[in-house]
Amino acid sequence: MTLPTHSPRLPPLLHADVVQTPPRPPSPEHQFGTRAVHAGAHIDPTTGAVIAPISLSTTFAQSSVGNPIGIYEYTRSANPNRDHFEEAVAALEHARFALAFSSGSATTAIVLQSLAAGSHVISVSDVYGGTHRYFTKVAAAHGVHVTFTPAIEVDIEGLIKPNDTKLIWIESPSNPTLGLVDIRKVASIAHRHGILVVVDNTFLSPYIQNPLDHGADIVVHSVTKYINGHSDVLMGVAAFNAIDLKERLTFLQNAIGAVPSAFDCWLAHRGLKTLHLRAREATKNATTVAKALEASPFVKSVNYPGLDSHPQRAIAVKQHRDGMGGGMLSFRIQGGHEAAERFCQNTRVFVLAESLGGIESLCEVPSSMTHAGIPKEQREAAGVYDDLVRLSCGIEDAADLKADVLKAIEKAATSINGSK
Ligand SMILES: *Cc1c(COP(=O)(O)O)cnc(C)c1O
Repeated sequence: MTLPTHSPRLPPLLHADVVQTPPRPPSPEHQFGTRAVHAGAHIDPTTGAVIAPISLSTTFAQSSVGNPIGIYEYTRSANPNRDHFEEAVAALEHARFALAFSSGSATTAIVLQSLAAGSHVISVSDVYGGTHRYFTKVAAAHGVHVTFTPAIEVDIEGLIKPNDTKLIWIESPSNPTLGLVDIRKVASIAHRHGILVVVDNTFLSPYIQNPLDHGADIVVHSVTKYINGHSDVLMGVAAFNAIDLKERLTFLQNAIGAVPSAFDCWLAHRGLKTLHLRAREATKNATTVAKALEASPFVKSVNYPGLDSHPQRAIAVKQHRDGMGGGMLSFRIQGGHEAAERFCQNTRVFVLAESLGGIESLCEVPSSMTHAGIPKEQREAAGVYDDLVRLSCGIEDAADLKADVLKAIEKAATSINGSK
């Protein structure tokens, strides 16, 4: 930042010109935790503040017409807190660039908006409900059409429309059945046809999976979940390497204006600094709960990529850090939909609520909550049965979560018509 010396309205310079900013860890050579704490966390050049101030100003002064004093002009285009957050996410996703948006949904919308009318998209079937809604009800309005497939690794070649297919959309793990996609396998086919691959990495966070390392072109997150991690910010982010994507998506970020506030960027950056600790703890807790569920006579099946019984465990071992399963799991309870609902009313630690990835554990019934908007046949074809319960394990103590789940499940499954 260059400070002017000639404007009469400016206060005298502080120590901006003399403060030595200590070197910050550059990204590639340090491990994840070090980068999470330091990437984008610059010492304030004027005060030496170790934690950046929240820059609430919407506009930035110019010393002469068209010559901003610093690097900022107007907060929608760029502001210090958003820059810090984007720099941190880029470092953690092994990306050159990251762009933050006002929600995960806005991020999805902007990636789709970047496609020309007439473009075709191939998507995995069991995507996030809001993503499904955008693909089916909004994208078509500007001439972008989406084909869904439950087996993208097998079907992709046949679904590609030469000249029209521009994007492949993957969610791995999928929501809420925790199915995995071999990103490398899909990306290598897509790239032969010049098609971009997007991975929604919300369920694992950059600590457990870095899709760009497996060949994806864009990784997107609902920051609302693990990255912020405290259930108090709605935000999204996209990270990528290509300079042409940077130009197109930056243009849309400013032109559409679906941007996060400086305060939300500051909070999400603060949350991001402990992501590695939270993701490890959530994985430990989910593993404990998944094993207990697998051993329960009241459970039909458990979906958790950290278990050896997961049908795509080999992909988890290849794609996830140390084969970690993350904090999300789902299971089918004995006793049908009623038992699933009763389970969610009987937990004492798990809170009955939508969303995921926060410090607190949550439970929900996808067929009547997050996935209620998807027609029943389509839902069941994707494994989202009425008796499916989804859990987001937080960072409480594993023993308490396990006891809570086992107690609630027994109450729920045994109180149906007096039988089990
Ligand atoms: C929540 C979520 C979204 C949407 O993000 P918002 O921040 O709620 O708009 C997208 N994808 C996945 C996998 C999600 O869980």
